[in-house]
Amino acid sequence: MKALRLRKWRSDAELVELEEPQPGPGQVVVRIGGAGACHSDLHLMHDFDAGVLPWVPPFTLGHENAGWVHAVGPGVTGPAAGEPVAVYGAWGCGTCVRCRAGIENYCENPADSPVTGGGGGLGLDGGMAEFMLVPDARHLLPLPEGLDPVAAAPLTDAALTPYHAVRRSWPKLPPGSTAVVIGVGGLGHLAVQIIKATTAARVVAVDTRAEALELAEQSGADLVLRAGDGVTEAVRAATSGRGADVVLDFVGSDATLAQGAAAARRMGDLTVVGVAGGKLSVAFFAVPYELSVQTVYWGTRPELVEVLDLAARGLLRAATTKFSLDHAMDAYRRLQDGSIIGRAVIVPTGS
Ligand SMILES: [Zn+2]
Ligand SMILES: [Zn+2]
Repeated sequence: MKALRLRKWRSDAELVELEEPQPGPGQVVVRIGGAGACHSDLHLMHDFDAGVLPWVPPFTLGHENAGWVHAVGPGVTGPAAGEPVAVYGAWGCGTCVRCRAGIENYCENPADSPVTGGGGGLGLDGGMAEFMLVPDARHLLPLPEGLDPVAAAPLTDAALTPYHAVRRSWPKLPPGSTAVVIGVGGLGHLAVQIIKATTAARVVAVDTRAEALELAEQSGADLVLRAGDGVTEAVRAATSGRGADVVLDFVGSDATLAQGAAAARRMGDLTVVGVAGGKLSVAFFAVPYELSVQTVYWGTRPELVEVLDLAARGLLRAATTKFSLDHAMDAYRRLQDGSIIGRAVIVPTGS
């Protein structure tokens, strides 16, 4: 089969021929319907030297995946062949307290997980291939009626990650509150929809690109702002001077973190989702009183069930551009230069 593989650090991924995976005991092979192209894959290709991450190339990219059950190994009693499924991508040990609660993104026993802090496409072979090996049937969630694998694939990260970020801030988003979304890319446009679908907050979206702001408006944003000087003042003006109850930063640069903190309300949340690696200095008088700052990584398996439900009911829909496996690197090049609006999804069978 064809697979898009990261062969070594600091290199573009390459399309190669691989043997089709075979399921061992407890394992499942999924025929991939769609695999989302994530900005973090660009970091994987370009930003790390050997030994920085606990993973060793080669491995196939693609950590947001959905498809159909293709083959099950001995002892699997879960989904039947042909059933459409989403792949929960954070593969923990399965037995620590966090994993038992479905919070495998924060597994506390990484030595016993298939790969430390990762999963398919993050250290192990992912879904940018015709078939993908999933090490345990518990990672497969049946797709609800009306949701196909191409639409579902990006939800497993591009929606699950912002869903997790928004959900933990629900108590701070009652009627009358304001949420700010900085960076309206693959995750950000879904964040706007998630806030609108699950809270009564007003949503302000910020991006440098006019097309992204258009997508933010289509996603339900109440106010869109061109990134740059004046964002903080505009957010304060839109909130009678109070500031935003919750700021979700999908960029995470020095500049966006500083803006996010300056635009936040006292007792607000500033949640850093983007991995641009910026720093925020915290000091008395430097940030609003009782501002809570947190980073988040991915989401939980129960939250993915909720995300799929929202999508099946039409409350959440990823704007997608489809690419064949042969053109997967084009998707990443366009992601790099900012010309993908919404999410790029690789569709292996469409090649
Ligand atoms: Zn991702
Ligand atoms: Zn665990």
